[in-house]
Amino acid sequence: MPDNLHMGGCSCGRVRYRLCDTPLIVHACHCRMCQRLTGSTNVINVLLEAEKVVLEQGEVASQLALTPSGEGQSITRCTTCQVAIWSEYHVFSKMSGVATRFVRAGTLDRPDHFPPDVHIFTDTMQPHFLARPDVPQFPRFYDLARVWSQSSLKRLSQTKRSTQQRDRQGAATCVT
Ligand SMILES: [Zn+2]
Ligand SMILES: [Zn+2]
Repeated sequence: MPDNLHMGGCSCGRVRYRLCDTPLIVHACHCRMCQRLTGSTNVINVLLEAEKVVLEQGEVASQLALTPSGEGQSITRCTTCQVAIWSEYHVFSKMSGVATRFVRAGTLDRPDHFPPDVHIFTDTMQPHFLARPDVPQFPRFYDLARVWSQSSLKRLSQTKRSTQQRDRQGAATCVT
């Protein structure tokens, strides 16, 4: 895939990042909090393993915001223009066992390239929003095992294994 499909950045141009793989899944979230945070009908989040979203230039800072789960999300923004680039949803990282980044699709150089695979929290979808009828909708969240592609589920379990391995090795070096 050409590079520009995988590159993105903030509005002032200082922050540039790269996606090192295809998305695990793309969410269109219609929860009230995403509506408030974006000032729009919904957010489009491109999900990848945290280690596959690489900051290439610029300075970012993270801040905790509320989510419907109560666990919160850390929103990472450009320190100059304050545009939100990606989030980590703590409930999702706990559930999946893997640190993931939810990259805001609108910050990609080609934001149209990764359309949503699912619409979530559609119980608060704004009535004037037109979703494509062939894209699955869930009133709140969904079961990963039923919705994710086999290759994404495989990537998730591989990342979980390598993280656990690293954790064990890390612990071993600490005690010796
Ligand atoms: Zn910026
Ligand atoms: Zn949301």
